[in-house]
Amino acid sequence: MVELIIKKRNGFELTKEEYSEIIDGFISGEIPDYQVSAFLMAVCFKGMTDDETANLTDVMMRSGELIDLSEIEGVKVDKHSTGGVGDKTSLVLAPWVAAAGVPVAKMSGRGLGHTGGTLDKLESIKGLSVDMTKEEFIDNIKLHNIAVCGQNANLVPADKKLYVLRDVTGTVKDISLISSSIMSKKLACGADATVIDIKVGHGAFMKTIEEAEKLAKMMIGIGSKMGRKIIAVITSMNMPLGYAVGNALEVKEAIETLKGQGPADLTELCLELGSHMLVLGKVAKTQEEAVETLKKLIDSGAAFNKFKEFVVAQGGDVSVIENPELLPDTQFSDIYKSKNEGYISELNALDIGLASVKLGAGRETKTSVIDYGAGIVLRKKIGDYVKKDETLAILYSNNSANFTKAIKFMDSAYTISEEKPSHKPLILKTITR
Ligand code: URA
Repeated sequence: MVELIIKKRNGFELTKEEYSEIIDGFISGEIPDYQVSAFLMAVCFKGMTDDETANLTDVMMRSGELIDLSEIEGVKVDKHSTGGVGDKTSLVLAPWVAAAGVPVAKMSGRGLGHTGGTLDKLESIKGLSVDMTKEEFIDNIKLHNIAVCGQNANLVPADKKLYVLRDVTGTVKDISLISSSIMSKKLACGADATVIDIKVGHGAFMKTIEEAEKLAKMMIGIGSKMGRKIIAVITSMNMPLGYAVGNALEVKEAIETLKGQGPADLTELCLELGSHMLVLGKVAKTQEEAVETLKKLIDSGAAFNKFKEFVVAQGGDVSVIENPELLPDTQFSDIYKSKNEGYISELNALDIGLASVKLGAGRETKTSVIDYGAGIVLRKKIGDYVKKDETLAILYSNNSANFTKAIKFMDSAYTISEEKPSHKPLILKTITR
């Protein structure tokens, strides 16, 4: 392993066999965390070629069992986000698209760095389990048109172990590592088509549209080699999506959105990504037709009912969904007020994400335990006019000492200006090949 670390540190290309050696050794415990961490850091500095990325993806995908969904009728569709702040889109979209008759087969991840993860959010629902066998995953899709699972010892264990290590060693942000992490999961889970939401901006791993396009093309390339259709939508993550940031708080906002009362930006993004999923799933001919179908499913209550059905199917307590006040909450809360009067011209999603981690909503070390009720509810966002001392956000935590740590990040998140900022689009670009 030392030789392989040095080889990458010196900028050389590794073979598929060498990636197999690293991944097998890491999973079996023969290669310790510290050597894999050093290797990951070398990748962050020296990068990987497209061939190396494709080889690593293949080795990771085959580190566990592969799910064959061919016995399920229809085009099986999946959705993934590269990670954002307040990004509860999957919680809303998976049941919404399933309610439209498209089988949704999804493997999700946990929070990473300052970004949240679908699995952590779902686990804030009492009883809900994302740990399932391949057979249970397939059965749930057959019965309910939807299953969301996590990685376990059988499903892409390589990504599960690497993800945890990357999260705490500053090695998340590398285009090849992100591509292989996402694509190994998407390929192993067997969906025929996937819509990937590539976040760009302060709160995303990709800071520029050029980086986001590079990531999009890399993932589309890996997918097409394996006969899978990938659509990448590049969307802004300069400010958090919606108003809630933190696991149970985001579940609450997802429920409101499925009832047609969610924030405008979250609803807009869900309609954009969801309409691609319906077209890929062949239940709509055009995106316009798909948007109409999706809106009707909210109005009729079918999308919310599908969410409840999904929660029950995965062992969750549906009374929590019917009465969201039963979701985990916190012993303490703190009002964060504006220090000036004017328009909010910046609301840095990275700072808000880091503040929510400090409150307990994310992990700072491999063994950190998540405080499911912790997080932030924003009251004001970019473009809003605020008076001095007006409430900008409410912070929640079960440890009151966390507020001081979080407030430092809240202070740098907001910029107040005299001039009203211009409206910036949320959906930036769609890449299909
Ligand atoms: N999402 C993933 O699944 N993996 C990454 O590396 C980043 C975001």
